[in-house]
Amino acid sequence: MLQGIAVSSGIGLGTVLILREHTLVFDENRQIDPEPEMSRFSRAVKVFCDNTASRMRHLQLSTSLEDSRILETHINIANDPEMTREVSGLILSGSSAETALSKVSGQYIAAFMDSHDELTRLRAEDIRDVCNAILHLLLGVEDTAIKNAPTGSILVAEELSPSAMADLDAGRIAGLVLEKGGPASHASILARTMGLPAVCGIKDATKKLSCGDFIIVDGARGEVISSPGERVIAEYRSRREAQLEERRCTERFRDRRTLSADGREYRLYCNISMPSAAAGVVESGGEGVGLFRTEYLFMNRSAPPTEDEQAEAYLQALKGAAGRQVVIRTLDIGGDKNVPCLPTQKEENPFLGLRGVRWCLQNEDIFLTQLRALLRAGAGEALRIMFPMVSTLSELRACRQLIEKAREQLINEGRPCAMSIPVGVMIETPSAALIADHLSREAAFLSIGTNDLTGYIMACDRGSPAAGGLYDPFHPAVLRVLRHIIRCGSAGGAPVSVCGETAADPRLVPLYMSYGIASFSVSAVAVPRVRKAVSLWSKAEADSLAKAVGRLGTAKEVRELLDSSQRT
Ligand code: PEP
Ligand code: MG
Repeated sequence: MLQGIAVSSGIGLGTVLILREHTLVFDENRQIDPEPEMSRFSRAVKVFCDNTASRMRHLQLSTSLEDSRILETHINIANDPEMTREVSGLILSGSSAETALSKVSGQYIAAFMDSHDELTRLRAEDIRDVCNAILHLLLGVEDTAIKNAPTGSILVAEELSPSAMADLDAGRIAGLVLEKGGPASHASILARTMGLPAVCGIKDATKKLSCGDFIIVDGARGEVISSPGERVIAEYRSRREAQLEERRCTERFRDRRTLSADGREYRLYCNISMPSAAAGVVESGGEGVGLFRTEYLFMNRSAPPTEDEQAEAYLQALKGAAGRQVVIRTLDIGGDKNVPCLPTQKEENPFLGLRGVRWCLQNEDIFLTQLRALLRAGAGEALRIMFPMVSTLSELRACRQLIEKAREQLINEGRPCAMSIPVGVMIETPSAALIADHLSREAAFLSIGTNDLTGYIMACDRGSPAAGGLYDPFHPAVLRVLRHIIRCGSAGGAPVSVCGETAADPRLVPLYMSYGIASFSVSAVAVPRVRKAVSLWSKAEADSLAKAVGRLGTAKEVRELLDSSQRT
């Protein structure tokens, strides 16, 4: 058995197909005529963008998910004005398109790979992927291995680029085994979107496994079983059947209302990162957008989006949601979110430094541009604005004042804008949690960001292996804080939602119901699962579970009780 990292659950049984990246060869000193060479380059970029846009449509149609934003990012990279300018400069001074593109992309990749920030390193992977695809087009070489993979193949590779993933037919491929990557890598995100069992981090998998081997991939346990015997195959086949049946049963909840067993109604929204994803939300069973992370609009570009570009993006999200509520969160940078096109300073401890609204309030021009764009897009639409990383009431007041300033400017300029927009606060710092009563009196709604809040309550980074899993949303301390926020918020008249990853965990859903949560905001794939979890509990049953949990002092005990109480 080979042990790797579990990145996309499900069981796959099939035959190994090893994919190896082939080296592209071209003459670096080829003589060129600059003008036709420039047109050749522009044509290749256009074909790449057209192909990617059609893959995006395919992904959205088959999965209706925001993960096609990875491909949207690829189109932005291919059209990046700074990179295009540098490549054109080299072509005009005599380099071939292939040489110019490899040189310029190589410099960007080296610079981004140097970063200690994971998101920036992922961007280097994106640039490599895009430039590789354009080079294939320039050289007229087509990579067909994935498209022609026989039904029942398990793809084994060092890593798979997003565009390779988008070429893959999830109906034919039984699973993925990759040497590199982790839960946050693009291939893993896309594998989850496609419901494809996947395991990453298996060192030398392409050497240890051979084409044609029959193997089993257990994406939930991160295991790959090579040469399984008849008995093992039969066992995994029946586990796979049971999982598929469970998934089919959960899917039935996609288009229902979110009702508890005793008929109480909850709201269930989706988290998105790109405006185009809003249109898929309804199809996924979401009632609107509960969190649009706008910082993604600022990534992978050399300059921040202009007010017009932003207004267009927000309007696209609002129109996509077709009249349903859309909560747009203002720029949340800092911490683990590094946005190179914005001015940030290096800090000793970025998670405790200039993050979210703290950064925005100190960079008023950029913040005001975003608020103006939001007010312009929000005219006549179901827009709500939410501020991230708030830790004091004064910050909320300062943000509201800036909204007023933006509105006044727009009115003076005679531009149409939203006259009143509900404004909410993310509760993701301990101080905001403790003053949730004050905040709830001045905000229209509160939304708990359990991803950050858990880290700040436990004083532990999410990814810190050294701290031995101290970061834990099941910890009684985290649960007590959540109960406090929800009670204070509701008492103050502001409905409270949870928009961190924990909102999608069926084990925690009854606890949140008992605490008085009004809505959940989760990724689109999780909608049926959460709706089903809500339907399995009455308020009285959830209360008695919460009471039992309230008596426990450790995360382990809470987890054990919630695991054993889980309903299916
Ligand atoms: C959170 O912190 O839970 C949250 C939703 O915000 P983000 O994950 O974007 O930091
Ligand atoms: Mg957060």
